[in-house]
Amino acid sequence: MRILFLDQSGELGGAELCLLDVAKPYRDHSVVALLADGPFRAALEQHQIPVQVLTARSLQIRKQSGLWQGLSSLRQLLPLAVRVSQLSQGFDLIYANTQKALVVGALASGLGRRPLVYHLHDILSEEHFSSVNRRLAVLLANQFAAQVITNSEATRSAFVAAGGQSRLTSVIYNGFDPATYQAADRDVVRRSLGLTGFVVGQFSRLSPWKGQHVLLEALTNCSADVTALFVGSALFGEQEYAQQLQAQVTALGLQDRVRFLGFRSDVIPLMHACDLVAHTSTAPEPFGRVIVEAMLCGRPVVASAAGGAIELVESGSTGWLVPPNDPQALAAAIREAQAQPDTASAIGDRAQQQASQRFDLLTIQRQIAEQLQQVSQGKPVGNPAPCRDPP
Ligand code: UDP
Repeated sequence: MRILFLDQSGELGGAELCLLDVAKPYRDHSVVALLADGPFRAALEQHQIPVQVLTARSLQIRKQSGLWQGLSSLRQLLPLAVRVSQLSQGFDLIYANTQKALVVGALASGLGRRPLVYHLHDILSEEHFSSVNRRLAVLLANQFAAQVITNSEATRSAFVAAGGQSRLTSVIYNGFDPATYQAADRDVVRRSLGLTGFVVGQFSRLSPWKGQHVLLEALTNCSADVTALFVGSALFGEQEYAQQLQAQVTALGLQDRVRFLGFRSDVIPLMHACDLVAHTSTAPEPFGRVIVEAMLCGRPVVASAAGGAIELVESGSTGWLVPPNDPQALAAAIREAQAQPDTASAIGDRAQQQASQRFDLLTIQRQIAEQLQQVSQGKPVGNPAPCRDPP
């Protein structure tokens, strides 16, 4: 099948890492068109996935854009949509992977009469999007998309609550190749980074809603041999927050207990070096790739009990869930994991076993392939049942 994938970002966020895996089986006849240049292009090229960067200037719509800003971006949008509609003539369908890609893809789909699939990686709630953007996403999806693939039940429910048509949706979790997450030499990694004691890792871009500040606060209620390793950078311009975190470290006197490594492409060995992985989002996480990655590494996870995380982790069995934005509860879970290494290890093992089955990349690629096949043949698409099994 020939697919024109569209993504707004040149950065390597979760949606882009997911698309990398979705696009691989189609690389001989498909193209990923990007609305911005960046490391994502290099990653696609590295996997021999054809890529085209469509614009030198990123689109001026922001997640919190109002009506006026949205309208004023039309001058930029329309020529892009025309270009994508022309490009789409050589493909069976357009696959929009992000919000801005949906806007361009929907217009192009209408102009060029190509079916549109929308892969929704975001929770369409007021915490993440302005009401104009929520309404626009739902309107365009309802009007133009033949299928909306959502990355969790939480994402699907938010789409429907915002007015999206339920009949368009299916839940398909992100897929992962379990073999990639095999044990790294944990001691070598720890020595090379000078890590000692009980290490809590946090693997996310630096952003207020990813809640790195909550883990810093929690550290003050843990014993002095607990250290935190932050992996990730301010991918989408949240430099101010990065500076606030540094100031918080100083204010709390945590300089010797905290490391910021910036963005790393070797997340797997770094996860193996941790004793616990903390997912600290203060708003509902649409899916939470890092949670599954930690599970696949056999590392126990403590995650914020909101959004997709609730579908991934069963508290006390395959990880711990704590209320979002609650440093005390997070600290209590860290103390428990540290005090009961056997329980933590059993939780990590169970999580690894379960995640290898539930999020197996080949199964998920097959589910997406079935959906795309049906869309390209103009058939109604059903929900792939196995993805929605409870943990
Ligand atoms: N990640 C990475 N390097 C980093 C930090 C994060 O490669 O320094 C990856 C992480 O392993 C995960 C993705 O970025 O695969 C983040 O996806 P997630 O769903 O957790 O969050 P999102 O960025 O989509 O909100």
